[in-house]
Amino acid sequence: LREGDAEQTDAALQILSTVFGYDSFRGEQAQIIEQVAGGGDAVVLMPTGGGKSLCYQIPALLRKGTGIVVSPLIALMSDQVAALEAVGIRAAFLNSTLERHEAQAVEQQLLAGEIDLLYMAPERLVLPRTIDLLQRAELALFAIDEAHCVSQWGHDFRPDYMGLSVLADAFPTVPRMALTATATEATHRELTERLRMEGAKHFVSSFDRPNIQYRIEPKASPREQLLRLITAEHEGESGIVYCLSRKSVETTASWLNDRGIPALPYHAGLDARVRQDHQERFLRAEGLIIVATIAFGMGIDKPDVRFVAHLDLPKSIEGYYQETGRAGRDGQPSTAWLAYGMGDVVSQRRFIDSGEGNEQFKRNARSHLDAMLGLCETVSCRRVQLLRYFGQELGTPACGNCDICLNPPRTWDATVPAQKLLSALIRLDRERGQKFGSGQIIDVLLGRENDRSRQSRHDELSVWGIGDELSEKEWRSVMRQLLARGIVDAEGEYGVLIPGTQAGPVLRSEETVDLAVDRTPAKSARSRPRP
Ligand code: ADP
Ligand code: ZN
Repeated sequence: LREGDAEQTDAALQILSTVFGYDSFRGEQAQIIEQVAGGGDAVVLMPTGGGKSLCYQIPALLRKGTGIVVSPLIALMSDQVAALEAVGIRAAFLNSTLERHEAQAVEQQLLAGEIDLLYMAPERLVLPRTIDLLQRAELALFAIDEAHCVSQWGHDFRPDYMGLSVLADAFPTVPRMALTATATEATHRELTERLRMEGAKHFVSSFDRPNIQYRIEPKASPREQLLRLITAEHEGESGIVYCLSRKSVETTASWLNDRGIPALPYHAGLDARVRQDHQERFLRAEGLIIVATIAFGMGIDKPDVRFVAHLDLPKSIEGYYQETGRAGRDGQPSTAWLAYGMGDVVSQRRFIDSGEGNEQFKRNARSHLDAMLGLCETVSCRRVQLLRYFGQELGTPACGNCDICLNPPRTWDATVPAQKLLSALIRLDRERGQKFGSGQIIDVLLGRENDRSRQSRHDELSVWGIGDELSEKEWRSVMRQLLARGIVDAEGEYGVLIPGTQAGPVLRSEETVDLAVDRTPAKSARSRPRP
């Protein structure tokens, strides 16, 4: 250590304790702060709750001038600023919610050197007018938060982030930081390049969250399953329940309330005041559940969230990891629970295929979904898989704290059923020119008559009834797992099943298919609302 560094480290520790009230740095905070306070650039990959904020707040205070914080989360800026002001830091934000004269006042303070930290959204920062303003001010650093938003490969792309590459040329002497809780190698590489952080030092923390227990189970009656999770393990505790649609957010929240579980809905369709109110109640109260779309949670810092439940399949592992990461920030045991079914897969594939966006975008979305499915259908440790997705190794072969480790699935050789299913798809297509969703296919495999099979004389096909060694429930499990592995695929508006890209070797018996024994919970008798 040079003398200057030692002094700086002392000063950083001083600020940590006197301003923020903590006595030691966590993880790599000290090294990151040292790098940036010394004028260098830094790329920081740290899981949610890891303590990224201090990594730019402290160097901004250590250096002369104002630290500019770039964030896409306009709605959170005033809270963030209020929290900083509460500990005596001169903070402000510039965004579209300010009146013109308010913005002008902030600009004057900036030029007068009276602001330590200034938050703004990327679209504002890249305006020539803002760049010009900043060039007249003294700047301590740029901190680009949620930096994965610059990655087109990632799950949260925001075009405005692309413009941030101008900072490199416009402010060659101001240190820049990129911070994110997303850690795939592809995103890491892309953000480094697009933000022109070639000279930066990289700080990649472990993404393991050992206190979170990961559990994924097939969907039977999802709300009942959720209710069982809450009453058996998390009664009276805080939790977040994620649903895909606003409607299911509403119905799930009132369904829980009807059963005596206090729950509040949160989605972008609610009035801003209601949303704010629900968020605040959730943050303050103990034992309240928030049922939300993924619009909820960015920047939410509630330490004692004991469980995060997904009632629908997340679109990517990145999203899943971020959302589940909101559980257990206090380090106490917490549950990440997900229920998913084949319907999720079919509807999401359909959504991607029929959605906007170019081919490349769709390909990315499909591969994100496939990776998520792979995690759902794995028969080995979830944590190992999750970390491997982020390019990290756990260090042990299994974690002992996920459903697979705690209750290893039995597997069985499903090669023959897979071949029967594929043959049924091929026969129906070749001999009848028909493609169907899972229900009709199962009827053919089981030899179960219905109007359509009578009309199309399915009973004359060689595949009629060839699958009656399995039950309907078992067939559903087989289909879901084959879908996850690309052995079958779902296409078109109705999600009809077709042989997938991985079907060939299975049909030719070149590959065996080992599947997990189905763990779909039995559909229980509907639970009645509690009085
Ligand atoms: P991130 O942005 O990485 O999700 P935050 O910066 O919001 O994480 O920090 C998460 C929580 O950890 C906050 O409550 C913060 O005050 C706390 N924290 C951060 N660094 C430390 C530290 N060195 N000691 C104690 N608490 C810390
Ligand atoms: Zn495990």
